[in-house]
Amino acid sequence: MEDKICAICLEHIHVNAKKCPKCQSYQNPGSRFFHSSLGQWVLTIVFIIALFSWFDSDHFEDDIIYNLDGILEVDKSSFKVQNSDCGIEVTILGTIANKSDKPLTNIILDVEFFDANGDPIDLISEELWDITVPPKGEKRFKISSNTSKQKISYIKHVITITQAEPSGWF
Ligand SMILES: [Zn+2]
Repeated sequence: MEDKICAICLEHIHVNAKKCPKCQSYQNPGSRFFHSSLGQWVLTIVFIIALFSWFDSDHFEDDIIYNLDGILEVDKSSFKVQNSDCGIEVTILGTIANKSDKPLTNIILDVEFFDANGDPIDLISEELWDITVPPKGEKRFKISSNTSKQKISYIKHVITITQAEPSGWF
């Protein structure tokens, strides 16, 4: 019978033995490490780190943020109402500031318009799918929409950011 000597207890064991029958030691140094308590700790820690980095990154397609208070804000904005080829056109220009440390995209804005009495007269909801606001940065945006309302009735506007998504492409 061909044999070899156990790397741990020096017992003669079968040449193909992966594990010593006497001391239960794995003969391959890699196997021995991963079956040791240190090896088990290393595996567990690597697993936990992998799990956390997966949760922390932007792998979720549906990782939509609905409460953007203190995260994404419209810094300054203005609007104008003018005659265009297809009636009356409302154009809103503004800057969005990203306070978070993640790039944010697919931002949906609700722009509400009020008349001189403060009554709501129009609402434009638009997804800024082509804009990614960098972390701790700003981005300009422009929205245009046609309206059937009277030009004069657009007095005041309020912009609410209703949702955004972390961008994985930055
Ligand atoms: Zn042994």
